Amino acid sequence: MNAAPASRPVALISGGSRGIGRAAALRLAQDGHDVSFCYRGDEQAADNLEKELAALGARSLAARVDVADADSVRGWVSRTEKDFGPVAVAVTSAGITRDKPLLMMSDTEWHEVIDTNLDGVYHVCRAVVFPMLKRRAGAIVTVSSVSGLQGNAGQTNYAASKAGIVAFSRSLAKEVGRRGIRVNAVAPGLIDTDMSAVLDDTVKDQVSERTALGRAGLATEVADAIAFLASDRAAYITGAVLPVDGGL
Ligand code: NAP
Repeated sequence: MNAAPASRPVALISGGSRGIGRAAALRLAQDGHDVSFCYRGDEQAADNLEKELAALGARSLAARVDVADADSVRGWVSRTEKDFGPVAVAVTSAGITRDKPLLMMSDTEWHEVIDTNLDGVYHVCRAVVFPMLKRRAGAIVTVSSVSGLQGNAGQTNYAASKAGIVAFSRSLAKEVGRRGIRVNAVAPGLIDTDMSAVLDDTVKDQVSERTALGRAGLATEVADAIAFLASDRAAYITGAVLPVDGGL
């Protein structure tokens, strides 16, 4: 944890140490937030981000928490509220892939992806929504994927988890809108991060060819959309799914 003197609105980000979550953490810090983020195992990436957040004048809390574990997520959210104050913004970026054709997919590969990507979103939102309801304020941004909207061969587990996030986010938006909480999703296309780095160059080229802008996106470009949806500039937007896919 790094401490800075004045307290600012708090953003809580799952999977904040790398990729899209990391870019969102930096963007929200630039927008004036303190940042509490969780990661699964990469301590070095978490340490690096804490240093970058401190350089931006933001307080940060890095928690090694598996989002698939409800108790750990509850503990992380409680510690954040105790140390930093109320969570104003929650972003659920933690996610994994275990791509395989369905016939070759193991039960483990199915469940790891659903447990992390979908249960993980449920655990984070369940933990932040009660205090947000009490304060009648809050913004949640979930991270889905074009795979969840269009389907993608080799990603039945991942696409199902990401479609679930869309339905979850729209439903939660309807439940909590009258209590001052907004819930929106972004649906990124191919974004240049460690997650997509494992893909074949030919696959990446094919996707870029099918993309109107003719290239993969940057994590910072998704982070800008997340920060917009989290901000008061999106005060009348809830239950939306914003594609950030370059026109795929
Ligand atoms: P990434 O670079 O692989 O980063 C994933 C982040 O999630 C890391 O901080 C990782 O922490 C964390 N994480 C993974 N499993 C976790 C768990 N069980 N508990 C807590 N944290 C966990 O991935 P990314 O590309 O930024 O993806 C972020 C989100 O965007 C994901 O939900 C992904 O599905 C979605 N998305 C990505 C793309 C793309 O092309 N990249 C496209 C569409 C949607 P550790 O480093 O400690 O493991």
